[in-house]
Amino acid sequence: MVENVRNAIVYENIDVNLEDVFTSFDKSLEEKEFLNEYSYSKMDVIRLSLTRLFVYYFDREVHNHDFQTEDYLNFIKYIKTRRSSEPLSIITTNWDTLLEEYFSKNTIDYNLCLNEKYYITDDEGFGNEKTSRVVNLIKIHGSINWFRCLKCNSLCIFKKKKIAELLFNDDRVEACLKCNSHGDEETEILQPELVTPTMIKSIDHQLYKNLWNAAATELRNADEIIFIGYSLPIADYEFRYLLQKSIPKEAVITVVLHNSDKPIEGKDNNHLPEKRYRDLFPKNFIKFNYSGFKEFFYENKKDKR
Ligand SMILES: [Zn+2]
Repeated sequence: MVENVRNAIVYENIDVNLEDVFTSFDKSLEEKEFLNEYSYSKMDVIRLSLTRLFVYYFDREVHNHDFQTEDYLNFIKYIKTRRSSEPLSIITTNWDTLLEEYFSKNTIDYNLCLNEKYYITDDEGFGNEKTSRVVNLIKIHGSINWFRCLKCNSLCIFKKKKIAELLFNDDRVEACLKCNSHGDEETEILQPELVTPTMIKSIDHQLYKNLWNAAATELRNADEIIFIGYSLPIADYEFRYLLQKSIPKEAVITVVLHNSDKPIEGKDNNHLPEKRYRDLFPKNFIKFNYSGFKEFFYENKKDKR
């Protein structure tokens, strides 16, 4: 089954499809409706199983990555250069841990801004960074290596253990890092701590309140904001609202997108990201760059400030 889901995800192009899958589940759960022959409690079980499969898939992809990709290395160089002179924060909707892994491998200290009393990690050195140049990494939709213990409510962050092995091992090796509770045949003790854009508005959870507040604070204090590969979709209205109310009008905005997003003269370009950015931030100075992620950080890695 895992293999089938994996192939289906690759085939369908994960960015688009994942969202659609979860939106159906989220909507149904929210409304306590039936979807086809499934009751909503049954849907919750299926949704959780799917979430675990996605966690497994992303984790495996991260472990198969060679961490030598030029695009990312240019980005890392850029981060290193900039953080030497000014505070730097990254706000991401991504669930994967690629960036954290690149940071660790390239000696960049980061702070997840969890403000959570009860989080615990299997990496003892983490969270004790004393350097002044810590990069804030705010994952507003959670992360594939974050799990909530159903028994003691601790947030467990797995940085060393292979999550894939943890989740799909018949020996039930999965255990809370804090209380050491194990699951049984019926219940998984560790629940993935990640949310979808559809779910975020109905989630009344302190963890996400903290993360979204941290994101708002960083945006309010920013004089420059760079959007990377984000098309500002209308569907992300919660996140759009956060951006709109937090970004000061004096902040300079740079938007890095792909060539295919570029408006064409004489054509109707109203469906393109550029229009959505100009509508949401009418008072800001916005620079658009359509050369893509790789080119942008290649050009900027040496000379930026
Ligand atoms: Zn526990």
